[in-house]
Amino acid sequence: MNKSSQIIFDKEAERALNELLSSLEFSSLFFVCDSNVAPLWLQSVKSAVAQYSPQEIIIPAGEQHKNLDTLSMVWRELSEKGGNRQSIVISLGGGVTTDLGGFAAATFKRGIRTINIPTTLLGAADAAVGGKTGIDFCGLKNEIGAFHTPLAVIISTKFFETLPRQEISSGFAEVLKMALLTSPKLYRALIKEGSLPSGRLLQLALRHAIQAKEAITTQDPLEKGVRRILNLGHTAGHAYESLALEKGTPMTHGCAVAHGILAAMRISEQVCGFPSEETNLYRQYLKANYPPLPFTEGDTTRLLQLMLSDKKNSTPDSITFILLSRLGDYSIHTLHPVAIAPLLL
Ligand code: NAD
Ligand code: ZN
Repeated sequence: MNKSSQIIFDKEAERALNELLSSLEFSSLFFVCDSNVAPLWLQSVKSAVAQYSPQEIIIPAGEQHKNLDTLSMVWRELSEKGGNRQSIVISLGGGVTTDLGGFAAATFKRGIRTINIPTTLLGAADAAVGGKTGIDFCGLKNEIGAFHTPLAVIISTKFFETLPRQEISSGFAEVLKMALLTSPKLYRALIKEGSLPSGRLLQLALRHAIQAKEAITTQDPLEKGVRRILNLGHTAGHAYESLALEKGTPMTHGCAVAHGILAAMRISEQVCGFPSEETNLYRQYLKANYPPLPFTEGDTTRLLQLMLSDKKNSTPDSITFILLSRLGDYSIHTLHPVAIAPLLL
């Protein structure tokens, strides 16, 4: 497996793609794109590389379509449209598209090359980088998948111009998480801003998040060690996300993670002496930029059950958390559910 990707930052993704392709040898090109992104961005990107006669495979938009039916449709189209081992798949879209397009590429003809062009902030900061690909299966998220590192990831913030605000705030939680883990200075600048950043600060923070993720995943591609720290905020975050879905009031992944980071800070105060002033600053920031959790105290038991079923736990009656003793100073802890119950809501 190729361990690292070329990360290209260029506002003009079209130009960057053209340049990249001119340095590669390949037989044919396939764009995988979802039904929301295709009418907005596909023609412009595709026409920039028209000399290679690229073909397109359009998948239905939404997490509910990150499944075997859609994957099988992509495999079929690759096969029927003459895909072979020298073809390249270019996934243009959010995390659903890069996960599914990447997995199709990982498995077609035992694996063909892939390029990711993320069009959501979450995709750029997280999903498109690091080589995890896959689909949901039997009601379980990312149940089937493969590690398949893209040849290159092309990052252009211009795609975010058409993103709804809640998708921006969702992606931003991952950007903030990375600053919290690896750059206290950047984290402070982002929190001080008070609102979601745009322009130069967003560019800077996004670049930092991607480079940090790429460095961590290159060091630990199969998530056996340091890569696990990327789960900061995700232990409680995944439980919030699942419970909200169960209750019929779905929340974005990033909003759940943003609240999960607060839970991790509160637990860190108790377990590792994380300063309460930092938790308070973060709490204010969270309140100003994300909707509140749609839960009551009565939901704590179900949240704990969901956390106990997390596949990342080492034993069935403990929960693994990434905690902080200071900004940028993390460690991994295994905790008993009783200790964390009062700190979740
Ligand atoms: P998504 O791909 O569903 O995109 C969110 C919505 O925005 C969709 O409706 C999409 O059609 C639309 N959209 C995308 N780009 C747009 C644009 N530029 N303008 C307007 N609309 C646009 O979801 P996401 O939030 O990007 O990613 C979530 C997925 O990523 C989940 O399936 C998650 O499991 C996966 N993920 C994977 C990794 C990984 O390491 N592989 C990491 C984090 C998340
Ligand atoms: Zn995440």
